[in-house]
Amino acid sequence: MSIKKTIITVAPTGAWPKKENNPNIPMTPKEIAEDVYACWKAGAAICHLHMRDDEGNGTMDTAKFRETVNLIRAYEDCDIIINCTTSGDLNATDETRQAHLKELRPEMASYDCGSMNWMHSGLFINHPKFLEELGTTMQESGVKPEIEIFDAGMIYNSLYYLKKGFLKAPCHYQLVLGAAGGSTATIENLVYLKGLIPEGSTWGALGIGNGHVPIMLATVAMGGHLRVGMEDNVYVAAGQLAESNAQLVTRAADIVRIAGNKVATPAEAREILGL
Ligand code: ZN
Repeated sequence: MSIKKTIITVAPTGAWPKKENNPNIPMTPKEIAEDVYACWKAGAAICHLHMRDDEGNGTMDTAKFRETVNLIRAYEDCDIIINCTTSGDLNATDETRQAHLKELRPEMASYDCGSMNWMHSGLFINHPKFLEELGTTMQESGVKPEIEIFDAGMIYNSLYYLKKGFLKAPCHYQLVLGAAGGSTATIENLVYLKGLIPEGSTWGALGIGNGHVPIMLATVAMGGHLRVGMEDNVYVAAGQLAESNAQLVTRAADIVRIAGNKVATPAEAREILGL
């Protein structure tokens, strides 16, 4: 039997946590690029990038993405797969959410397959026309969607966009559990959502906050891929802040090996995901 390869994605920054939540979170293009390089060395095959403006708020500013992506690509030995968010600022326009994909052509980007009330504080809108446009932009720019799923309806939505051709099989799904407004981070929800994913797809999952480690363990056991990083979780244990994103990647890599799997290199991840 061949050894199963597990892809580790690192999401180093996200749109929300700030230095007061964890002083080790990377915020500037230089900090993010250095962090991503350390995470690649620790076993991350994909980096999922968010940008911050000079005040530390989430932004879809193409210039920030350009600077960061160029800094990462400048590491000659680093072949990490770059995955850019399309949802880094609730006030961004449909245009600014796609502009960086057209210019920078990252290998992957997030595709949030529905709308929701976000963290009891705002609206996370992914209206039907935007999802059609984004699917088209991604296909034209050679970007593989990471289809982010916060509840079951978003998986059913993805089946519609697959049928209409705005998404192309085989899809890659990211089950995001524990974001207020979406599914809670329980094993029951993980099993249920995973069961709705169309056959032939690849998938990963993550739990935000308390559910982080249980969801990681269950995901490895179920054959899924992993995502770690301060976008989802600024702690390494209860009350103990993570020292770095690389620390979180290292722990995930240990779990993958304990489970008897191999940590996928970026080249292996490209093969698994069909990039
Ligand atoms: Zn994200």
